[in-house]
Amino acid sequence: MFEGLHAVPQDPILAMLASYREDTHPQKIDLGIGVYKNDQGDTPIMRAVQVAEARLLATETTKSYTAPAGSPVYNERVAKLVFGSDHPVLNDKRVVSAQTPGGCGALRMAAEFLRGCNEDSKVWVSTPTWANHMPLLGGAGLEICMYPYYDHDNKNIDFQAMLDALESAVAGDIVLLHGCCHNPSGADLNKEQWHAIADLMERKGLIPFVDMAYQGLGAGIDEDAYGLRMLAARFPEMVAATSCSKNFGLYRERTGTLFIVAATPEQAANAGSQLFSKIRSHYSMPPSHGAAIVETILGDTELSQTWLDELAVMRNRIQGLRQSLVAKIRDSAIDRDFSFIEQQFGMFSFLGITSAQVEALRSQHSIYMIDSSRMNVAGLNDECMDYFVSALGEVLR
Ligand code: PMP
Repeated sequence: MFEGLHAVPQDPILAMLASYREDTHPQKIDLGIGVYKNDQGDTPIMRAVQVAEARLLATETTKSYTAPAGSPVYNERVAKLVFGSDHPVLNDKRVVSAQTPGGCGALRMAAEFLRGCNEDSKVWVSTPTWANHMPLLGGAGLEICMYPYYDHDNKNIDFQAMLDALESAVAGDIVLLHGCCHNPSGADLNKEQWHAIADLMERKGLIPFVDMAYQGLGAGIDEDAYGLRMLAARFPEMVAATSCSKNFGLYRERTGTLFIVAATPEQAANAGSQLFSKIRSHYSMPPSHGAAIVETILGDTELSQTWLDELAVMRNRIQGLRQSLVAKIRDSAIDRDFSFIEQQFGMFSFLGITSAQVEALRSQHSIYMIDSSRMNVAGLNDECMDYFVSALGEVLR
């Protein structure tokens, strides 16, 4: 049976990471893989997480099964973080939540659920979007349509083209929007644009689907959730997938959440029963450890503050790097405007150079980023910034 199998090409980001590790250049820089890094280039365990883990180790009494929805306490605390503690949909009990194996688990189960609701509905995703959206959503059987989003020439969102494309969506279609820190472009909708999209979706009977994997890493916890909270307040039905991978640094612990907002508490309960049965047939129930950490942090005022402070350090570091990169390029011999980098949010931006120039950065300067020129800004630091800018100058010459 396995004789005729051929190997799937390696994920380009993982292949690049392997070459980076083998590279012996003393000034090599990894701007590829999408994890947060500190000044030393490390992705450390957050202090709040360490304290919560120590507490769990001392107090946990069982490893018995949980449930397809995971921990109800985790679900409740994360719902408050995502929607805000006093959101009408929470007060009205119109949200059903499931702890999931990371944001990926939430996205896939959302797609399974939505396909179960209507097997003909399509999901609209931005061009470009995070590459994994396609297999996660398409793999559940949803048809994928694309709407224009990032305009590489203007280094900004082509909002009119986005609206025009969504005019051809039909009632019941789903629109995937990045809650904040758009991956891969870093270009986020402003408030006015969020409202205009909401108007269009309302008028056409489209279902909002928000993927928020970077809450707190853009402009702030509440600021980053603006669009998601506004849509939840306006629409009778929506779905949202969130992740604790980046903002709690829990990547490998696989900690995420899926929220389904329904028109009434009864409909939410029915939607939940459909969702939990899908979860049961996929992975039965989510892993517990990461969610137990998050639940511990969010249930303790002091630990929550420690976590918020650490998150602010991460967010400010990313914004600071964006500003100093733009300033250093401005002060260099490079005669090209890169100021868009400081207007964007989160870890990613397209540098906007050609794939040949990306290749030259890699082969001549040991600077690694993916071919599209998406760079992880957090991979930079004050020490390597001058080297990076001078290498960029050389490949642009
Ligand atoms: N959505 C987006 C846009 C992402 O960038 C990521 C992480 N790269 C995720 C979802 C999910 O991540 P995870 O499954 O690791 O929580």
